[in-house]
Amino acid sequence: MSKKSLIGVEEAEKIIAAFPVTVHSETVPLLAAQNRILAADIHSPLAMPEFDKSAMDGYAYISGDASPFYKIIETIAAGTPPRLAVTPGHCAKIMTGAMLPAGADRVVKRECTSEENGVMKIISNDKNLNIRYKGEDLQVGQAVLSKSTLLQAAQIAMLASLGLAEVPTARPPRVGIITTGSELVEPGKPLGPGQIYNSNYYSLAAQLCSLGTDPLAMGRIADNAQATVEAIAAGLDKCEVLILSGGVSVGDFDYVPAAMKKAGLTLHFEKIAVQPGMPTVFGSCGEKIVFGLPGNPVSTFVIFEIFIKPLIMLLMGHPCHPLLLPALLTEAFSRSNGARTSFVPVRYFQGRATVLAYHGSAHLHALSKANALLRVPSGQLSIPAGSTVDVRYL
Ligand code: AMP
Ligand code: MG
Repeated sequence: MSKKSLIGVEEAEKIIAAFPVTVHSETVPLLAAQNRILAADIHSPLAMPEFDKSAMDGYAYISGDASPFYKIIETIAAGTPPRLAVTPGHCAKIMTGAMLPAGADRVVKRECTSEENGVMKIISNDKNLNIRYKGEDLQVGQAVLSKSTLLQAAQIAMLASLGLAEVPTARPPRVGIITTGSELVEPGKPLGPGQIYNSNYYSLAAQLCSLGTDPLAMGRIADNAQATVEAIAAGLDKCEVLILSGGVSVGDFDYVPAAMKKAGLTLHFEKIAVQPGMPTVFGSCGEKIVFGLPGNPVSTFVIFEIFIKPLIMLLMGHPCHPLLLPALLTEAFSRSNGARTSFVPVRYFQGRATVLAYHGSAHLHALSKANALLRVPSGQLSIPAGSTVDVRYL
């Protein structure tokens, strides 16, 4: 199925989407579940609230009891059950969340009362009963969250409120990153002549982290054929997905596609009609997936966003629905060659998108000012100012 010829963006997307994936599940502590997908339906082990409780700081009394004043029989704090039943002419001082005492069926909030010498008077009308009744939010056994729900703060709070300390989730794949390039130096170290800092490891790692996966640093290697094969083989041992940056093009020291084959991978495509990122390589061996990305930093970023992210999200148990925002293009866009589909960095704000000054796939500074990408289909050379376009929010 290997294709060395140039394939279109849509075809590459289809090949990736059709790749058979297995979603693995694992039970993890609640906070480790953030940004993961729920792997099973959750039913409530509790009624919520678990008991009739006060919704206000106030006084619990009998609603039909129109006494001119009410003697306070006790003060009930949240977390301490009441000791006494409320009778006519009496009330219990009660705090928000405290258990309603027997006999009482209404709470008057403190702001509508006065209190002196152990006696409470209602001084203005409180139209509410101010009680949260047992089971009014959830009954025991009621469905709470369904399988495939994305777990974020609100869902994690919900699960905690049910007393659950762990939750079954789809386990994110183990994704490793290998950067290739004899010119690369890690940030924090001095640069020698001709050297540059390795930014692709950091952009890929940050993109993976924001999806909720914990990337594995599988090394930075020099441009060397044997070292590349060995790094891929080692990566395949430890990872389910391996991403390589650099070394996929036609340079004398670009070893990655041949090394992928030598490491036993089948290559599904080696070139996409996309700008930036044309020499992107996609290969697999059984269920293991390997991407080789061109080293120019904007290419690496964009190819991850458009092609790798959807597959990683599938492996995490949920389909990727990129956020497309309709926007008015503030200035005309034009290009001299329309042979490829382009992804152009733009700045989106309040329904308007501005194309950023962009010198090409090495221009990381332009990308760093962007918050969206404009997709320009192959064949299209220009888009007039004032057109409505969809931008892909980052
Ligand atoms: P390559 O795809 O290896 O031919 O690299 C294309 C361009 O991207 C070259 O200018 C490289 O120096 C640069 N490059 C490659 N890898 C990285 C990296 N990890 N971080 C930043 N720039 C890189
Ligand atoms: Mg290189």
